[in-house]
Amino acid sequence: MELKQILQDIYTELADKNDKGQVASYIPELANINPNKFGIHYISLEGNSYGLGDHQEKFSCQSIIKVLSLCLAIKNEGVKIWKRVGVEPSGTPFNSLVQLEYEHGIPRNPFINAGAIVICDILLSQLENPKDDFLAFVQKLALNSNINYNPKISASEKAHGYRNAALINMMKSFDNIENSIDDVLDFYYDICSIEMTCEELAQTFLLFANNGCIPNSNERIITTSQSKRINAIMQCCGFYDEAGEFSFKVGLPGKSGVGGGIVAIHPGKYAVAVWSPRLNKKGNSYKGILALELLTTKSELSIF
Ligand code: GLU
Repeated sequence: MELKQILQDIYTELADKNDKGQVASYIPELANINPNKFGIHYISLEGNSYGLGDHQEKFSCQSIIKVLSLCLAIKNEGVKIWKRVGVEPSGTPFNSLVQLEYEHGIPRNPFINAGAIVICDILLSQLENPKDDFLAFVQKLALNSNINYNPKISASEKAHGYRNAALINMMKSFDNIENSIDDVLDFYYDICSIEMTCEELAQTFLLFANNGCIPNSNERIITTSQSKRINAIMQCCGFYDEAGEFSFKVGLPGKSGVGGGIVAIHPGKYAVAVWSPRLNKKGNSYKGILALELLTTKSELSIF
């Protein structure tokens, strides 16, 4: 069956059903979103691009952006970053503190909050104008200058970010944070607040399906080896304590965010983004995972 038809069938099957799960409310501003939003967008490296539902509506990227902050840190600093953050799945929730103490302030991987905060610290030390430079990087990957921060969302998260404050204080006590705690957290909340559509996310992540080159411009951003490594981390750590389950059901490297988005890629073939704000207990989009499971099952296009 043609991919376009498969996507249409999945959309029809899921659009009005499966209203399980809850919208994230620990960031109060995120709780205002209509929980019934649902969009999906697929783009292949050959240039086929199909989207359905709310695929052109912007939403809060949240942790999805951690792949792009990791990408920029790797591009600028190379292997040095691995002294400060690991590459092992955590098996714990996204905001967990428990492993930090006995691992001496070195987070398990760059996609749990602690690891993403360390990456923000690295970027803060590297970049001249971190906020502008990071946004310019995302816009370049997306081939789109119409992407921005949402100051309401970042302020809302900052006002309630007690757990992230605990994580960064713990890491600072182990000398794994160079900059001021407030500066790092501000930058972290800012980058999490970036908004993109499913279409923009799929376009942006095509880079990781294309060995580190932006497909349309053919500009190389990272090396093939760096792209392989980022994909490996998405595969093992992209869904917190549900990474094994996502691999088992969907079989693609990917990354979720508490805004309800998920992006997944098939190296050499395609990128797909889905958005549905109701989350399961692990903080991942309930319908998003279902949609991707149907996609790789019906199309037989998983990496396994
Ligand atoms: N900004 C969110 C936080 O720090 C990101 C969490 C997520 O998307 O998983 O809690």
